[in-house]
Amino acid sequence: SREVRLVSRPSGPPVPENFELAETDLPAPADGEILVRNLFMSVDPYMRGRMNEGESYVPPFRIGEPLDGGALGEVVVSRAPGLSPGDVVYHGYGWREYAVLDAARARPVGETPGVPLSVHLGALGATGLTAYVGLLDIAGLKEGDVVFVSGAAGAVGSLAGQIARLKGASRVVGSAGSPEKITHLLDDLGFDAAFDYHDGAIGERLARAAPDGIDLYFDNVGGDHLRAAIGALRTYGRVAMCGAISAYNATGPVPGPDNLGLAVGKRLTLRGFIVSDHLDRMPDMVAEVGAWIREGRLVFTETVVNGLENAPMAFIDMLGGANTGKMVVRLGNR
Ligand code: NDP
Repeated sequence: SREVRLVSRPSGPPVPENFELAETDLPAPADGEILVRNLFMSVDPYMRGRMNEGESYVPPFRIGEPLDGGALGEVVVSRAPGLSPGDVVYHGYGWREYAVLDAARARPVGETPGVPLSVHLGALGATGLTAYVGLLDIAGLKEGDVVFVSGAAGAVGSLAGQIARLKGASRVVGSAGSPEKITHLLDDLGFDAAFDYHDGAIGERLARAAPDGIDLYFDNVGGDHLRAAIGALRTYGRVAMCGAISAYNATGPVPGPDNLGLAVGKRLTLRGFIVSDHLDRMPDMVAEVGAWIREGRLVFTETVVNGLENAPMAFIDMLGGANTGKMVVRLGNR
């Protein structure tokens, strides 16, 4: 079976030479284990942090060892009750063609006609849960809120913006990195306003898109975006601090918002969160977002790259903005 290993730690943006495609022998599944053939795997921004040395909220990847991360696989051999060959499961052993794992670490997923299976890595998986929890539980979205989402054409951002609209936001503004993405936000995803963050000062663009200010900021980017949002937030405004992708490839200290002091006078709440602490909300999210998808009220966009050998480039390109919606790698024929 083939797997992708980390052979060196990136300094700045990752490059293909940081990765290696290698052959490995798989053990036969023991009692309680399953052998799965992976069909799809996820590439995510947090993996960049795990390529650095040193502990964060997840342990770092080890040099010379396979990477891991969210994946969907088909059970080939089962030595565990409750799982049979042909079942499709979500698990954490991506970046490889086959995996042998403890069945307790695999979650069966259903297939919905007309919806790609990879939705379980996106809108109906960790990505959807991040948007849902960040918006509703962390930032406490209220009906009538003016909402700003950065990274809005990406996996989490595209869902956060749509969920905000479906939950009664009065205006949803997004920022993203290309004119095509802006068109997508306005024409396909129902954003009320959107701007390309390369087009001038973010604060000015945001003021034009939300002239009366914003109540809620869903932060995927950090840095200048967070600074602009703090400037635009109204009294009692709330920020879900989801990520700060503008800093992930930095090799030194990065500029933070120099106007954080405004949080006092504006009585702001800025709250960070990690989606894995909120798995109890998965059933609620799947019920609600699943219904919106079936009813055609929420658009699930993805960018699909084929083949394990292309997974490193898919990851590198995702950090560079090549994706619209969720970036996934297809490994099997589904
Ligand atoms: P995306 O699908 O949004 O992909 C990353 C996107 O980031 C790119 O497409 C690119 O789009 C954008 N980007 C890259 N560099 C910059 C930059 N310097 N400034 C602005 N935008 C940039 O990834 P996800 O949806 O998976 O993740 C989005 C955010 O959510 C990340 O910060 C991630 O770390 C965070 N996250 C947090 C979780 C949590 O539990 N707190 C869980 C999951 C994700 P563009 O063309 O617009 O630049």
